[in-house]
Order: sequence, then C-alpha cells, then structure tokens
Amino acid sequence: VKIAVLKETRAHERRVAMVPAVADKLVRLGCEIHMQAGAGTASRIPDEAYKKVAIAANPQGLVSDADIVVAVQPPAADVVNAMKEGSILLSFVYAHREPDLVKLMRDKKITCFAMELVPRITRAQAMDALSSQAALSGYYGALLGATNLARILPMMTTAVGSIRPAKVLVMGLGVAGLQAIATARRLGAMVEGYDVRPETKEQAESLGAKFVDTGVDARGEGGYARELTAEEKEKVAAVVTKHIQQADIVITTAAIPGRPSPKLISKAQVEGMKNGAVIVDMAGEGGGNCEYSKPGETVQVGQVTILAPLNIPSALAEHASELYAKNQYNLIELFVKDGAIRIDWTDEVLAKTVLTHGGEIKNEAARKAVE
Ligand code: NAD
Repeated sequence: VKIAVLKETRAHERRVAMVPAVADKLVRLGCEIHMQAGAGTASRIPDEAYKKVAIAANPQGLVSDADIVVAVQPPAADVVNAMKEGSILLSFVYAHREPDLVKLMRDKKITCFAMELVPRITRAQAMDALSSQAALSGYYGALLGATNLARILPMMTTAVGSIRPAKVLVMGLGVAGLQAIATARRLGAMVEGYDVRPETKEQAESLGAKFVDTGVDARGEGGYARELTAEEKEKVAAVVTKHIQQADIVITTAAIPGRPSPKLISKAQVEGMKNGAVIVDMAGEGGGNCEYSKPGETVQVGQVTILAPLNIPSALAEHASELYAKNQYNLIELFVKDGAIRIDWTDEVLAKTVLTHGGEIKNEAARKAVE
C-alpha cells in the first residue's frame, strides 16, 4: 500500500500529516511511504528524521502512484485531479466550505475520509483529530492570554508586598475550554468556567475552576450545544456580565455545529471590562464569540485587548502534527490489513467518517450543503 504525503500549501499551515514515529508504524503495517521533500520542515521535523520514508524532491507523480494520500488541510484541486480513481484521501475537509472540491472527489471516485467527521464516541477517541487539536489550542489560548496581560497570573509574595492572583473566565467548556482551564490553573490564576451544557459544571470543578451557573440548559444533539433563544440570552447576560467585568482574561471557545459562532460577549460588555483585560477569542474560525473580534487580527478597544487567532494548532505544529498523524494512523489501521486495503463498511467509525466514495457523497449533511 503506497501512501503519499505532500507539503501543506495553505497559508499559515505549519503542520504535516506524517511524523517519523508514525511512518515507522505504517511500514510495519505493510505500507510504503513517499513524502515531498521539506514537508515536515515547518513542523521542525527535517527530512533526515524520516528514516523509513522515501523523500521525493519533485512532488509530481507522488500522488498519481499512491493508494492513500494523507494531508492536514483539504488538498488543492490539482492534487485530487492527479489521484488515481478509487484511491483514498485522509484530511480535514469541512465540506460546506469546499463544495467544488467535494464534487471533484465525488466525480473522481475518491474515497475521502474527512477527519472532522470522526464520530465523538469512546471507540473513536484515538482517531479524533478535532479533540487532539482542540486540546492543544486550549493550552495555547491560556498562554496567549497570559502573555498579553501586563500582569502576572499567580499570587506572588515579595519583599514589597503581595500580588493577588489574576482572574480568568473561560466561556465554552468543550475540549479546548477544559484544557484552557487546566492551563490557567497551573499558571496560578483563579479560574471560572461557563457553558450552556450543565454536565460541564462537574468537569470544570474537577479541574479547579468555579462554575458560573446561569440556570440555562441548552443541550443539543450528540453532546453539542444548541443556539440560545432571545430570552435565554438575557438570562445568561444577567449572570455572566459581572464575571466578564471582573476578569483579567476571558477565553472563549463556544461553537454550535454547522452554525456561526454564538456571540457571547457584546460590545457593551467589552466596554465595561477592566483596564488591561485581555479576551482570547478562540472561535475566530467561525466568526468569533465577541462582537468586537476580527478573526486573524488583534483589536484594541480602550484598554481591552481582543485576540482572535486563526489556526491555533499550527502555532504548535510539532506536537499538533504528532497527535494528528497518530489520529490518522489509528484510522488507517482499521482498513489496511496484511499490506492490503479492505474497508469494512459495517464499521461505524469508517461509515460515519467517509465523505465521498464510489462516485457518491456519502455524508448526508455534506450532500445537502454541496449538491
Ligand atoms: P465545540 O467546539 O463544538 O463547542 C465548545 C463548547 O461551546 C461546547 O462545550 C458548547 O457546549 C459550548 N457552547 C456553545 N454555545 C454556547 C453558549 N452560547 N454559551 C456557552 N457555551 C456555549 O465542543 P467540543 O469541544 O468539540 O465538544 C463537544 C462535545 O463532544 C462535548 O460534549 C464533548 O464532551 C464531546 N466529546 C466527546 C468525545 C468522545 O466521547 N469521544 C470526544 C470529544 C468531545
């Protein structure tokens, strides 16, 4: 089984879909790996570190020969055009953002497993790239908050008096939010957490944060949240505003599947914040959680700094690539047996992760968005 790895070409993408340790394991599984020279460089992994990989100076021919192509970002159309009919692609796709690419993969009869479709079930945890990347993002979000603050996070006793610990509020307690809590706690801050799924109270408390209870329960389908009604939004604001205004750092991670980011912080709430406060809006990809956020930019409103970074995992490319490649390995292991590809479509993980196969768009939501 031939696997091809290309250098990522999208702007600001430093990750790579293959790391040396995973390449070694794939070889043991009966695979042969061909990688474009320099594909790991931006992740600080030089070509020489890939001992079991054939490095190709010229990417031409790499893909047309491959049975499986692995990538982080959705590939360019010419990559898909060069792929063999019936070959397999593993990458993030986000079909609703890539309608033309999805149609091309359908027409070229590519079997595409889209990493964002891996089901959030216990058995699929080792393949769940959304979670592995979100955990790193949550950690980094807390650090961004800390380094953009003109204060320190822990309590410090000095010869000239004591400094009180900073207050951090984390809004949205999924994988990223919980990791942001854990990181801010390790830095010594007093941390509060808020979410609209009541089960997050216990999760926040187990990490040493206080839960801000608004009394709103907006549990949606499949463990995700649903959008709030106007009435619920008012109820939330009545409780949360005070906590936003007491915080030195607010980290937001709220998302609703298939919808733009919910706005959790209004302009008026920002204007009432403490001088020097920092908002780290980690929902930039979906438009942001704060009304003042500009995705990809840093905005100053009075004495409040609002960051809305994009592609946060790329900033931690070495570890992000390592976890991502391991997630993909665990998926590949499901359909590469004894050096051959055998896809068992009764396997729930494969059946739910497939986006296109045999000339069809297999995922219903994607089909609706694309066709
Ligand atoms: P996500 O990125 O979709 O959303 C982040 C958080 O934002 C969620 O906790 C959501 O409740 C919250 N949110 C949405 N609207 C909000 C609002 N108006 N105010 C405050 N918070 C709001 O979430 P995620 O990290 O991808 O996790 C989603 C779910 O999947 C969770 O229930 C998580 O436990 C679950 N999960 C399960 C597995 C598994 O079992 N294998 C793996 C990962 C995640």
